[in-house]
Formats: sequence, C-alpha cells, structure tokens
Amino acid sequence: MRPRTRYAEKTKTTLPGDAAAGPPLPIDGWAVFLDIDGTLLDIADTPGAVTVPGGLRDDLAMLSRRVGGALALVTGRSIAFVDEAFPAHGLPVAGLHGAEWRDPTGRRLDCDPGPGLAAARRRLGEKAADWPGVVIEDKGAAFAAHFRLAPRLGEVVRSFMESLAEGLGEGWTLQQGKSVVEIRPAGNDKGAVVERFMAQPPFLGRRPLAVGDDLTDEAMFAVVNRLGGLSVRVGRSMQPTAAAMVVDSPAAVREWIAGAGR
Ligand SMILES: [Mg+2]
Repeated sequence: MRPRTRYAEKTKTTLPGDAAAGPPLPIDGWAVFLDIDGTLLDIADTPGAVTVPGGLRDDLAMLSRRVGGALALVTGRSIAFVDEAFPAHGLPVAGLHGAEWRDPTGRRLDCDPGPGLAAARRRLGEKAADWPGVVIEDKGAAFAAHFRLAPRLGEVVRSFMESLAEGLGEGWTLQQGKSVVEIRPAGNDKGAVVERFMAQPPFLGRRPLAVGDDLTDEAMFAVVNRLGGLSVRVGRSMQPTAAAMVVDSPAAVREWIAGAGR
C-alpha cells in the first residue's frame, strides 16, 4: 500500500487559474467538481444555519463559463437543498453523495427511498427526543443525525444509526462525516459520480479538479488522482487524505473561484 502523505507536505501545488499563487496553470481545459458544506460554505452549528456569501453564485457562474460548463456541485445535500441555496444556478449537480444526479443536459436521476427508510427515520426521531442538541436532517432518500452541538453524544448516535442501517439491509449504507452520521443509498459515491460526469460532454476530455473537506470526498479524490487530475482537501486536520493538496478554508476556495473565473 502506498504510504499516505501528511498535510504538511501538501502545500506546494498551485491551483489552476490561481494567479495569486505564482505562475498560474491556466484553468481552461479543466473540469471542476466542488463539494458545498465546508468547501464552498462555512460549516454552521446546524445544517439549516449555513449562509451563502454574496457574490458566490455569480462567481460560480463565471467560473463555469470559463471551463465551458464543466463545473459540477457534488454534495451530500439533496438537489432540492442545492436549488434553494443557489437559485437558478443551472449547474450540473450530484446530491446525496452521488445517489441523486442532474447531468449537464438537465436529465435527472432520482432515488426512491421506499417505506423502510421512512420507518427508520421515524425511529431516529423518537430516539432523538432524548438527545438534546442532536439535529436530524431529512434529505428525502437519506437522513442524517448531526451532533456538532452535542459532541459527547457522538458515539451513542453513531451506534444507533449503525443499528438502523443494519436493519435496512443491503440497499443502504452508513456515511460518517464531521460531527454527522448519515444513512444514504448504497451503490453510489462521489467518486462514481465524478466518473459519470467525466464520461460526457462538456466534462469529457478535460482534466478533473476536485475540492472537498470530508470523508465522503475521499472517493472523489481517488478517482481524480487516477484520472491524472488534482485533488484538493479543505482544512488542515490530521485526518489522512488522498488529496494531493490542502487549502486552509472555504474562504480560500471562494477567493480562488472569484479569481479563476475572471
Ligand atoms: Mg463537505
């Protein structure tokens, strides 16, 4: 197995189109995949409390034009949330870690949650009544329990979610994240969705760049590395990563987007 590089060594690469970081690699010719929470947007105490900074929507639209429309949002949120946060953005998007998908032509792939998931979500809701500070997020074909406001309940929440996922069986999987544990449809991840995008215009033939901050983004980093692209992790934690480069914060990502799109 290849040894993993620690973050401290991953500071030398230049982002494509980043004029501020020295001789810029031109952004033309790249395809861009961006996670949302913790990457474009600062993490908030609860999933409903995130804010979209002014100017970000326009900067994304501009960057998308610069790369010939080869820019997609790849998130654990539902597409419904993305369309609310970025109204009329018209960007290709993968939701629920790749289980939902809207391609560059607007064609939509959705996921049917079925009755089992609703029952599991109800059981979690009942249980969470005894967990002050734990926030349940209903995403349609997935649901998450956030414990950022109640970190000492993390283990209890995780093991209850594990038992719910086991009860649901094969079609579902447990997704860990930063202060969150989630049950989502199995069989898709952010890596698979990046491959799917890369197989069709306007992504086809470009070099992929993926930016993300959490465990779910590692699947996308692995695919992008294999395709000869550039993987970028946001945030300097000691958590091992397959990403080739680390940047400090969502603010740094937003600054790069604003500059690269010009
Ligand atoms: Mg994230």
